[in-house]
Amino acid sequence: MKPFSYERAAGLEEALDRVSHPDPPTLLAGGTNLLDLMKERIALPDALLDISRLALDRIEELPGGGLRLGALARNADTAAHPLVQERYPLLAKAILAGASPQIRNMATNGGNLMQRTRCPYFYDTDTPCNKRQPGSGCGALCGYQRLHAILGSSEECIATHPSDLCVALAALEAVVIVSGPDGERGIPFSGFHRLPGDEPQRDNNLHADEIITAIDLPPEGFPHHYSYLKIRDRRSYAFALVSVAAGVALENGTITGARVALGGVAHKPWRVPEAEARLEGRAPAEDVFLEAADTLLAGARGYGGNDFKIPLARRAVVRALAECCQLQLQPR
Ligand SMILES: Cc1cc2nc3c(=O)[nH]c(=O)nc-3n(C[C@H](O)[C@H](O)[C@H](O)COP(=O)(O)OP(=O)(O)OC[C@H]3O[C@@H](n4cnc5c(N)ncnc54)[C@H](O)[C@@H]3O)c2cc1C
Ligand code: SF4
Repeated sequence: MKPFSYERAAGLEEALDRVSHPDPPTLLAGGTNLLDLMKERIALPDALLDISRLALDRIEELPGGGLRLGALARNADTAAHPLVQERYPLLAKAILAGASPQIRNMATNGGNLMQRTRCPYFYDTDTPCNKRQPGSGCGALCGYQRLHAILGSSEECIATHPSDLCVALAALEAVVIVSGPDGERGIPFSGFHRLPGDEPQRDNNLHADEIITAIDLPPEGFPHHYSYLKIRDRRSYAFALVSVAAGVALENGTITGARVALGGVAHKPWRVPEAEARLEGRAPAEDVFLEAADTLLAGARGYGGNDFKIPLARRAVVRALAECCQLQLQPR
């Protein structure tokens, strides 16, 4: 590991001041991703600024009915919080589908948003990777592609975002609250992560002089009709091949509101409002779910080793929506 300095921030103001300078320190929260990247020499910071003890770990009700999740609240504490379990069980389920109990005890909500891809070439410094070293090429394009993207990819990068939490936050239309030199701003979740385009080294739209302080959840949490379905190679402790976060509002047998987001298929959680519009005003039925799935997956393309994800994602969307609506699917 490359030598680095370590300092603990006493408060948010001090941390913001430190990141506003040229050559800022790298923020350390739970360390579950950053320390691995440092040990593998993917991240080579000269200085770490530990923000894990800042008072940003609370989970509080918002006026108007939403909930504010502190950026430094641990994933485990977030999933176990009574208000999350009661109003946003989709979020709790997604968190508990990720990592292991030990990692969730350390991992923070802000760190989860910022975690880097699990593309194996990103971690292997002997192979080309445009995300790790811009301009070097993409090892995955002609290589191992099982975890890779079928939507929104570019010829520069076909990596996926590995988070479970973020897929639920996309479906819930969360807002990421960040502080920077000009004060506070809220980034709608759909605009937080980026597609790779020709700058795959940039995972998200957070500025270098900003810190995530919280994640706001709107009042609608779909507590009665929700599903988080994670398809993976092992039943636990594995990243998603495909995941689906879905929430539905039902009135007298008609879908009056719906959200569906996919994980494991793109550089960011994948949501297409037109797919959700296909569900609204209709009675739950398999052919209706298939229409939504096809709209969500429009333009999907595989690269050979991940072609299987297109039919897998289609079936997973149908299954998740059926689970939301308690609809028994006919065996095929
Ligand atoms: C073996 C293993 C399996 C895993 N499986 C899953 C899984 O199945 N699903 C899943 O979702 N995740 C999984 N994870 C990832 C895990 O959830 C993340 O590592 C974790 O959420 C990162 O949070 P952290 O607090 O430890 O971040 P850190 O490692 O401390 O930081 C990660 C990055 O975020 C930045 N950062 C942290 N906090 C802030 C902030 N407030 N503002 C701005 N930047 C910030 C840091 O500078 C760093 O770049 C797994 C991890 C491991 C090691
Ligand atoms: S898919 Fe992206 S992260 Fe993976 S090797 Fe290619 S450029 Fe790197």
